[in-house]
Amino acid sequence: MTKKQRRIPIRTCIACRDTSDKRSLTRLVRTPDGILVDPTGKRNGRGAYLCDQAACWEKATSKTQIVANALKTTPTADDISRLRQHLTDVIAQDNAEGQ
Ligand SMILES: [Zn+2]
Repeated sequence: MTKKQRRIPIRTCIACRDTSDKRSLTRLVRTPDGILVDPTGKRNGRGAYLCDQAACWEKATSKTQIVANALKTTPTADDISRLRQHLTDVIAQDNAEGQ
């Protein structure tokens, strides 16, 4: 008998509230340097997850209250610009995949 069920960590996207295994979500982390995108998911600090979808990043960067609630901190302009930068990358990736 083989164990078919593996324990996959399930995370909830803070923008669309969809749940998914953590590989299709990108972690945000609150650090002393501000809110950072954490592609490795290994940084210390309170984390929150967003789908790798432009719509979710757009929502998080336009309605920053979502990020504020999830990370229990108020995002600074720098934090939001870092998230926007990632959004740009996500869109670029989407475009590349669509070709
Ligand atoms: Zn989402």
